[in-house]
Amino acid sequence: MHAARNGRDHIESLRDGRDVSINGARVADVTEHKAFRNAVRSAGRLYDFQAEPGHIEAMTFASPQTGRRVSRCWQLPKDYAELVERRRALETWAELHFGFMGRSPDHVASCISGMYMGLDLFEAHDSRRAAAVRDYYQFARDRDLFLTYVIINPQADRSKAAHAQADPFLAAGVVDEDAEGLTIRGAKMLGTSGIMANEVFVTCIQPLSPGDERQAVSFVVPMNAKGLRVLSRKSYEEHAVSRFDNPLSSQYDENDAVLYFDDVKVPWERVFVNQDIDMTLKQFHATPAHVYQNYQCQIRLLVKMRFLAGIAHRIAEANGITAFPQVRDTLGQIAAEVGLVDGLLHGMEAKGSQAGAYYVPDRHLLYAAQTLTQQLYPKVITTIRDLAGGGLIMVPSSVADFDDSGLAAIIDKTQKSPVFRPQERVKFFKLAWDALGSEFASRHVQYEMFYAGASFVTRGHSYRTFDWAKCKGMVDELMASYPTPAAPQRNP
Ligand SMILES: Cc1cc2nc3c(=O)[nH]c(=O)nc-3n(C[C@H](O)[C@H](O)[C@H](O)COP(=O)(O)OP(=O)(O)OC[C@H]3O[C@@H](n4cnc5c(N)ncnc54)[C@H](O)[C@@H]3O)c2cc1C
Repeated sequence: MHAARNGRDHIESLRDGRDVSINGARVADVTEHKAFRNAVRSAGRLYDFQAEPGHIEAMTFASPQTGRRVSRCWQLPKDYAELVERRRALETWAELHFGFMGRSPDHVASCISGMYMGLDLFEAHDSRRAAAVRDYYQFARDRDLFLTYVIINPQADRSKAAHAQADPFLAAGVVDEDAEGLTIRGAKMLGTSGIMANEVFVTCIQPLSPGDERQAVSFVVPMNAKGLRVLSRKSYEEHAVSRFDNPLSSQYDENDAVLYFDDVKVPWERVFVNQDIDMTLKQFHATPAHVYQNYQCQIRLLVKMRFLAGIAHRIAEANGITAFPQVRDTLGQIAAEVGLVDGLLHGMEAKGSQAGAYYVPDRHLLYAAQTLTQQLYPKVITTIRDLAGGGLIMVPSSVADFDDSGLAAIIDKTQKSPVFRPQERVKFFKLAWDALGSEFASRHVQYEMFYAGASFVTRGHSYRTFDWAKCKGMVDELMASYPTPAAPQRNP
């Protein structure tokens, strides 16, 4: 066994007979398939990086159980300093993919770690379910597993409860239970990174109604569990023309998939909640799980925002427009927006509080960040596209055009820039398009707008967790400081 899990360990672990389908066929090996192999390698790179001698200290910590070094995403910060130490490791991982892998291994690990921090809630609910959470956290941490999750029921008729859909097992739910465990049938959306994760956490974060008890479960299964089918969306990696043409799609297409549970058996030791609507919701919100998972998202987003700011400034340089006051104004606005994300991230850390033995980022600042950034991301993308003009499109059809000497000569004459050689200019605008406008980029807009729930959901969290009493108290205090006219006297 290596000092820490490395890329080879991870890639090998994915050759496990999982049932992944794409383009009408079952995939024999996700690590070799042209729809997935580069994304798998990008995930492997994260593990390689943490295992390198120069990084192991910053990126990993010693498991208290085994002593083996495991990713800091499993670390349970006891104070502000430990939180920051953990964040630095997560930020460094995000920099390896420039923030484009939303469901990197640190996302769901943060959620499960948060659930473990809230073990008291499970103990009060059912000691056997608490034991399952405790054992699973230790199991996943000590193997440094890559987890994904599916916590949303498939869209069908959103005006009806899960059990009231035409097919009561459209949304994955308990179809049977026996001495060994539960049997699960139905679908979940959208298992991002599922093709290259080791295990999947399955539950429901949406509000459930009485009658939805079968869907009110929480459990983990390996991605090769018998009966678990993974239905991939179109692969952008597979459709990437070349690394030069699609430098992001070709490497960081983490995949999204519908997961279908065709009577999957879940042993009791992997069941965290069994058919309990209240606990299904509380596991996220009455423990630090939801805060920790979404705090990881803001760390990653900050890296991506910095990358996009870099794209914006390079566009301005490429077209010689940096000195125009209006362009500086736009760049200043983008810089301020990156600063907003940066400030909110540091704010939620500094304003964090103790939850028992653990230090947890500030809940409301996290939800404020989510609410604002899901609006901000599409706006920033549009602003940068506005800066770029037709340059994003005025590029050769593919890198193959350079092989034709006649075309190469015309490209050389026409791709002019004050800072880039013609070939570099093409290279840069191909990258910019992959970040801003390609199908991969468009999926990223949808991701940033929805990964944490629709906007009415995140605003609801912001409303729920804000200190209204303090604000209203100030209004009341001022109003109490001057007299109110007496009510008119009633005539007898
Ligand atoms: C790229 C991508 C990756 C994802 N990855 C994952 C993942 O790894 N794991 C996972 O579990 N989920 C994942 N998701 C799913 C994500 O969590 C959901 O998209 C999100 O929770 C919103 O749910 P929904 O898509 O069903 O939208 P809906 O809930 O159907 O909402 C869509 C719109 O309908 C309207 N609407 C719906 N319901 C109401 C209501 N009650 N009141 C008012 N308006 C309403 C709103 O306008 C809303 O914006 C992913 C989504 C995307 C886009």
